Amino acid sequence: MTRQFRDGRLIIASHNAGKVAEIAALLAPLDIAVQSAGDLGLPEPVEDGATFTENAILKARSAALGSKLPALADDSGLAVAALDGAPGIYSARWAETADGRDFATAMLRVHEKLGDNADRSAHFICVLTLAWPDGHVECFEGKVAGEIVWPPRGGRGFGYDPIFSPRGDKRTFGEIDPEEKHAISHRAVAFHKMLDACFDKYSDSDDG
Ligand code: IMP
Repeated sequence: MTRQFRDGRLIIASHNAGKVAEIAALLAPLDIAVQSAGDLGLPEPVEDGATFTENAILKARSAALGSKLPALADDSGLAVAALDGAPGIYSARWAETADGRDFATAMLRVHEKLGDNADRSAHFICVLTLAWPDGHVECFEGKVAGEIVWPPRGGRGFGYDPIFSPRGDKRTFGEIDPEEKHAISHRAVAFHKMLDACFDKYSDSDDG
């Protein structure tokens, strides 16, 4: 039986301001008081899971135990079929350089590793985990399928958006209006699954 969220307060288990803002925007139509793990000064756990789900669970559990409130974590990335799902859980790490994160470098790595491989298929994936202070968790996965394009196009998104074109569209996520992206993205798919399963009390709200 799926556990329902009825607490009125929710911690976003992230220290990443961009991710906190995106999740807070998705939650905005609901009548829930939201704070981030960073706001509460909670420690950032080491993401040493072997899967998106393991990483999302360890982030959500750590924040729920630390705050004694339900907490929501997101783990996401790009999986390229011809690269056996890489960069996958290492999506952020592929961008690391001596001068900090650089996604131009990460996108070039994807392009170079793909070489002239004809299979350009890829997907973005997001796992959302809702954890309670007693350790109970509920997990929801969202995916959006598409293909890798080169060169990168568009400056509207973040991360790998300029080289990812969703199936059925010629534009990249970097060229698509953010509102439009948020309606079809891996994060939105996972989020709507979570709302349907765990937020029935809030289901009268317009969740966009
Ligand atoms: P996380 O913070 O460990 O979950 O890392 C997620 C990484 O995956 C981000 O740093 C991005 O590189 C990549 N990523 C996840 N979602 C998206 C997206 O919607 N667009 C572009 N890149 C994404």
